Amino acid sequence: MIDLRSDTVTQPTEEMRTAMARADVGDDVYGEDPTVLELQERVAGMFGHEDALFTPTGSMANVLAVRSVVAPGQEVLCEASAHIARAELGAHGAYSGVTMRTWMHPRGQVDLPAVQTLFAPEMGPFFVRTAAISVENSHNFAGGAVLPLADLRDLRDYATGVGAAVHLDGARIWNAHVATGTPLSEYGAIADVMAVCLSKGLGAPVGSLMLGSRDAIEEARVWRKRMGGGMRQVGILAAAGLHALAHHVERLADDHAHAKLLAEACGVDPETVDTNIVVVPRADAAEVVLRAAEAGVRVALVGPTVVRLVTHLGITRDDAERAAKVLASL
Ligand SMILES: *Cc1c(COP(=O)(O)O)cnc(C)c1O
Repeated sequence: MIDLRSDTVTQPTEEMRTAMARADVGDDVYGEDPTVLELQERVAGMFGHEDALFTPTGSMANVLAVRSVVAPGQEVLCEASAHIARAELGAHGAYSGVTMRTWMHPRGQVDLPAVQTLFAPEMGPFFVRTAAISVENSHNFAGGAVLPLADLRDLRDYATGVGAAVHLDGARIWNAHVATGTPLSEYGAIADVMAVCLSKGLGAPVGSLMLGSRDAIEEARVWRKRMGGGMRQVGILAAAGLHALAHHVERLADDHAHAKLLAEACGVDPETVDTNIVVVPRADAAEVVLRAAEAGVRVALVGPTVVRLVTHLGITRDDAERAAKVLASL
């Protein structure tokens, strides 16, 4: 089976497993796991943030990050198909009392005029106050689309001017970095708080981080424990992340090339594929998923008429070419 459902299906490599087995560990709830501390410091430094916090999932990193800048009863603005709005099962409302209003963009982009229209300043006991604006880069449900740095900078300037925070859901920021050559620190500079995942294209089995100021991270450490996310000798997992950062970032370019090849086979313009995700509109999407599986290729149904293919660490050039043949025949 060639599995193109998601870049979360990767298996840790032998080298990664060796790094995990050899990791120095301690009790991370006591702040004593040296491998976790090293990972947090490394990733905070990469994005120019003061500090970072290891979390089991990207969803938890997003929940902690958003709640650090949006109080209960306030709102965060985001694009309508953002992961925080669609795919975290209402966590920001359920746990943090945060509400959302959204703008719509078919490629998940920043629409600054729409943001300006939505933005609500403090108006006493009348309207929900906008405390933060969230962006997702690359954008999952917009087919891995990259948000241009210039747009992010304009948003940052606007947010600073109106006193709103910027949250960046950077689950796949590594893909945006490799696709555009934009330094990670430039992406880090547009956000007050952000989340990054090690378990997507980077191929670690588990793990994400929230990034932000020292104060925000100190508070997030308390909330992580409150949510049941205080983990013990978790350096075993952090070691997988450190290994992935050292060995699996630059190779994302291969995933992007494979995604273009698959796009072409599916009749999607490869120019519209920025990173490792290909979204294929099909009236008979469920049927395509079944028939592809019968022919040895697993693809995902992400809407009644949308098929999604995602390339990753576990897909070789040969796999991509074989999958392209199967998909072209469908
Ligand atoms: C995967 C993903 C997350 C986090 O997902 P988890 O499964 O909770 O780790 C957050 N944002 C985006 C854009 C994602 O693709």
